[in-house]
Amino acid sequence: MSLQVHNTLSRTREEITPRSGEGKVLSLYTCGPTVYAHAHIGNFRAYVFEDLLQRHLRERGFIVRRVMNLTDVDDKTIRGAHAAGIALADYTRPFKEAFFEDAKTLRLLPAEAYPAATDPEQIARMIAMIGILMEKGNAYQAEDGSIYFRIASFPDYGRLAHVDLENQRSGQRVASDEYDKEAVADFALWKAWVPEDGAVGWESPWGKGRPGWHIECSAMATGLLGQTIDIHCGGVDNIFPHHEAEIAQCECAAHGEQPFVRYWMHCAHLMVEGSKMAKSAGNFFTLRDLIEKGWTGREVRYALISVHYRGALNFTIEGLGAARTALARLDAWHERLLETAGSETASEVPNPATEGFFSALDDDLNISGALAVLFETLRESNRCMDEEKLTPVQACGLLNWLGRVDGVLALEADTVTTIPSEVEELVAARAAARFAKEWKKSDEIRDQIAALGWIVKDTKDGQKLTKA
Ligand SMILES: [Zn+2]
Repeated sequence: MSLQVHNTLSRTREEITPRSGEGKVLSLYTCGPTVYAHAHIGNFRAYVFEDLLQRHLRERGFIVRRVMNLTDVDDKTIRGAHAAGIALADYTRPFKEAFFEDAKTLRLLPAEAYPAATDPEQIARMIAMIGILMEKGNAYQAEDGSIYFRIASFPDYGRLAHVDLENQRSGQRVASDEYDKEAVADFALWKAWVPEDGAVGWESPWGKGRPGWHIECSAMATGLLGQTIDIHCGGVDNIFPHHEAEIAQCECAAHGEQPFVRYWMHCAHLMVEGSKMAKSAGNFFTLRDLIEKGWTGREVRYALISVHYRGALNFTIEGLGAARTALARLDAWHERLLETAGSETASEVPNPATEGFFSALDDDLNISGALAVLFETLRESNRCMDEEKLTPVQACGLLNWLGRVDGVLALEADTVTTIPSEVEELVAARAAARFAKEWKKSDEIRDQIAALGWIVKDTKDGQKLTKA
């Protein structure tokens, strides 16, 4: 069976295929955090789903080029910096760092690049894209000096979110980055500087100002991954207006008729103890809150991953407890298989039913089906081991299979080898150098890593680190 996913745009299941001439390469753009606070577990549900997708695509032989942006300038970050009385960059820096720590705690594969909206290179891309939209008549400057996208110039606006615009193209404008479908209106591409922006602002052909949130993603996605992106993910709350606006901007600025995105995938909301997570309701959790209460990143990952991404997830303390129990069963089974395998290295291909784990995931990431295969295999082989009927060769086969399963789930027990943060930082810097094709710099960093006692190897899945 081929790998199929539900495409939000077509509302149907579609087979994932690379574009012709691209070999097995797929580009993946995932909307990243707005660094105005610590990301909450609802945000991380989306990132864990994207990680599962990336890992399963890799298992199926695809080479995934993923970019995740960091929104470090928008209405919320400016408000936060202003309230704290510090510069925008000083305000967002600790939240960026915290995001990467949390991502590591949840075992998320790193993206190839994490462009930040305030990078001068990215700002230049945004200004260039707005310039094209102005030239083509898709954008205009309003009396307040800001540049707005003219949604009446793009008849497809509303197609992703299924919004009927018939009676709504009245040239109304909205400056805010977030608004609802009922108030659909021309949205801001470039916001003219106002005194509340303080020191935040960049020069542009239309005066000093700052980009709107939507143009940030459009410019960074196409700038780093090309005019057409294979898969674009986010949470359902990104569909409107954010992703709708991204499509409008990119398709109007593009040369030719190619779509901006081939497959749109969105992760459903997360509820906590049955209600919407809100600071005021007292059920608002960051990953850090849960770690402080004694849960591990691995347990939170299990709880987030074990419900289908398009289904509502009710995140509860009982759910975390169930994750802990399930992981303990997996660990005990793993130990037992290791004991049974002993020093055996020959391995037998397990029962064909175990391939069902991967074919379930081919079916729009049917995680329940995949976990059912995993636990059925666990029960069956435990029964065989109880009766001393599992041979070392069979145990070895199951361990190999489990290794593949874990390449997708990333739920293996924590190992004692911890990589020093100094080395981690160098590995990240080297990934950025390689992404920018700065090979000399990449080699220099490899030597620095070696001097710290670690060997970095480049594999088709990215950099692999081992102790020298
Ligand atoms: Zn985005």
